Amino acid sequence: MSYQISIQKTQNPKNKPDQDNLGFGQIFTDHMFIMDYTEGKGWHDPRIVPYGPLSLEPSTMVFHYGQAVFEGLKAYKTEDGRILLFRPRKNMERINISNERVCIPKIDVDFAVEACKTLVSVDRDWIPEAEGTSLYIRPFIISTDPFLGVRPSWTYKFIIILSPVGAYYKEGINPVKIYVESEYVRAVKGGTGYAKTPGNYAASLIAQVKAKELGYTQVLWLDGVEKKYIEEVGTMNVFFKINGEVITPSLDGSILAGITRESTIELLRASGIKVTERKITIEEIYNAHEAGTLEEAFGTGTAAVISPIGELSWNGKVIKINDGKIGETASFVYNTITGIQSGKIEDKFGWTVE
Ligand code: PMP
Repeated sequence: MSYQISIQKTQNPKNKPDQDNLGFGQIFTDHMFIMDYTEGKGWHDPRIVPYGPLSLEPSTMVFHYGQAVFEGLKAYKTEDGRILLFRPRKNMERINISNERVCIPKIDVDFAVEACKTLVSVDRDWIPEAEGTSLYIRPFIISTDPFLGVRPSWTYKFIIILSPVGAYYKEGINPVKIYVESEYVRAVKGGTGYAKTPGNYAASLIAQVKAKELGYTQVLWLDGVEKKYIEEVGTMNVFFKINGEVITPSLDGSILAGITRESTIELLRASGIKVTERKITIEEIYNAHEAGTLEEAFGTGTAAVISPIGELSWNGKVIKINDGKIGETASFVYNTITGIQSGKIEDKFGWTVE
């Protein structure tokens, strides 16, 4: 497919933010990408326009039934001024997996990557340069028919917005306290867990609020049937190291196939560390802790890359992992992946795209 992206530059460029206080997802750049879908016509009119509000009727379908998907990836500026995207095709392939699940027409993967590159290039002056900062890219698709019936929409908008984001760990990596959630579930087999669709996140909020009230940073999700098998941690995939072996839950339909998860597995295997994808119960983790073989636990995801787990609380039983410190495997994965992303470490895997 070949489309021509039209570019309308803003007449009112905003002031660039203070690079030391970017936070996450609060500041947006000068431009956004938009493309429309119309039944019978397909995806059309790709354009870059000034960032600003959308005008949509209150009856617009996405407001009522949440037929939408989204992605998240980052662009980094290297010390020698190049701009790198981390595995952008993976995100666009995954948006199509999500699209299929919620009946949104697929996008052309290569074109979507091209759209990302073009938008990032237009707003390249917004990419922060301080250590650990990046430009977060949020592609998303919303259903736009003004209609209150429940059916797949006939019209959509594919939009990409950009947000300069700060260093996730300003004061060094901090292992977090995690509450094992035994009441609410995030996803079930046959449901939408493997798709990046808004409803999953709406459904997860109540447990997140509960965990915060109890003094925990995030929740560890268990399977939706037996509440026995470990699925994910917050909005990250989860890894454990037991007796020298790294274990992560296998993808079975209720877990999002994280790109950081895949990169972590590839990196560890290439470094000669045994990685197993299989079902793992919370009981097994507690037993390993009891036996002294639970060495590390950490989450993986685009926002933080790695988030070590320092403590777990399950049905009133609290365990400390690796003395609440970051482990050597988590440190290695964090340093290597962030090094490759920022161009400081040679990318032997071919993950980055200039
Ligand atoms: N699980 C969920 C539910 C997520 O929202 C994310 C963030 N996209 C992840 C896992 C991690 O995926 P990735 O490594 O691709 O960011």
